[in-house]
Amino acid sequence: MSAAELASSREKLVVMKFGGTSVEDAKAMLRTAGIVRGRRERGLATVVVVSAMAKVTDQLLAAADAAGRGDKAGALAISSRLRNRHLDTASDLLCGELLLEMQKEIRGRFDSLDELLRGIAAVGELTPRTSDRVVSYGERLSSRMVAEAFAQHGLNGIHVDARHCIITDDHFGKAIPQESAIEAKLQQMVLPLADAGQTPVMGGFIGGTAEGVTTTLGRGGSDFTAALVGGGLHAGAIEIWTDVNGIMTTDPRICADALRVKTISFEEAAELAYFGAKVLHPATILPAVQKSIPVWVLNSRNPGNEGTKITAVAPPCASPFKSIAAKKKLTIVDVVASRMLMSHGYLKAVFDIFDKYRCVIDMVSTSEVSISVTVDSNERLPEICAELSKIADVKMEGHKALICMVGEDIRGRSGISGRVFSAIRHVNVRMISQGASEINMSFMVEESDVDEAIRALHAEFFAEPDPTVFDTEARTVAARA
Ligand code: ADP
Ligand code: ASP
Ligand code: MG
Repeated sequence: MSAAELASSREKLVVMKFGGTSVEDAKAMLRTAGIVRGRRERGLATVVVVSAMAKVTDQLLAAADAAGRGDKAGALAISSRLRNRHLDTASDLLCGELLLEMQKEIRGRFDSLDELLRGIAAVGELTPRTSDRVVSYGERLSSRMVAEAFAQHGLNGIHVDARHCIITDDHFGKAIPQESAIEAKLQQMVLPLADAGQTPVMGGFIGGTAEGVTTTLGRGGSDFTAALVGGGLHAGAIEIWTDVNGIMTTDPRICADALRVKTISFEEAAELAYFGAKVLHPATILPAVQKSIPVWVLNSRNPGNEGTKITAVAPPCASPFKSIAAKKKLTIVDVVASRMLMSHGYLKAVFDIFDKYRCVIDMVSTSEVSISVTVDSNERLPEICAELSKIADVKMEGHKALICMVGEDIRGRSGISGRVFSAIRHVNVRMISQGASEINMSFMVEESDVDEAIRALHAEFFAEPDPTVFDTEARTVAARA
């Protein structure tokens, strides 16, 4: 194949990721098959990444936790419910020989999961490594079932064990992918299948070390897998199929009149994802940016909708913001050290303590005598505070949330913060920051004030949305009804 032919064949490859709700039961899996068929009918080659069926990951984690506390009966009861759900889904999805084989496989997998849970309960301790093994069952099972459904429905589905391609380090629970090893494995194991007209189906979220030990990429990590696969295969596009019409002006669960954003830049999407918009995993963007692969966010329940396109450059927009995100369950740590604060090496000593416990800091603000930082509620916080107490007075305040407003058009506009803070004047605001990237404005509020603050901000900034950037049609239809 010539270089030009190769480039054009990669252009025709699309990596499609379906989240938990898009594979939640047999009906959803069949809808997924229909969407993939549509892409193949357009002459595209398809590689599919799936999450575990909706809520399965939470339940597997609950089973692992119960086993870790020595509650064997509790852990096995959860596993038994999951076994029945997977068996029921298989019966609704498949028939004949394929069904019999799948039932046998599901039973075998749950037998081995039960054995694992019994082992954890006997020791009474759950390590991150064992937790990853337990939780991996969700994606391992869903991807097998979806591959069989695709085979049964004429899509040439073929299962690929993601743990053999997504090579990571051994930081269990949030493993770091090794991109060049992944690219080599994908080229060797997945590309020939896609080139031969098959649809490889892989579980998202799970990976394996070079030695073959199972790992996971962190919650919501299937988006990340999709981007790694898209990047490694130099795909023409990555599609993230979920349960909403795309990236919206805010979480539609908080604000029912949130609007779809038609196009957003990589930079804006990355800020939104990082600061809490669950629709996309924060790490998703990077592999796609590095290879300039467009990413689409689409609705598997409404596949005709055009979704959100994430591209290198954002189109001009009359509104300053594109979207508002919120990250809850944060803690503010105030470090007060009146004399030492500005002395040489002091800040480094403070941040080294957070670093030692792998605790990520979201926001920092300093005054003459204190540093305030916000962190994800991290189970190591008591140890961090104990160490900080040796060099400063430390105070922790929990139940905080960060609201983050994102848009490239806040650059160089005046009067924006006035509008923001007057819209939420009744809310107590702590710590304010305008990101160095100048495309986000963030501040901390009480967790209990988040929803109300977001609704007030949404009303202020999206009352007259720019129709070139936002899908205003849905609102017009609602107003007419
Ligand atoms: P999936 O299982 O498909 O990965 P997620 O539950 O992880 O889906 O993400 C989709 C959810 O993200 C939506 O149902 C929505 O409630 C939430 N969400 C939060 N912020 C936004 C936003 N700005 N735009 C769209 N959805 C958002
Ligand atoms: N199933 C995993 C989770 O729930 C990964 C994902 O769905 O993206 O976190
Ligand atoms: Mg998700």
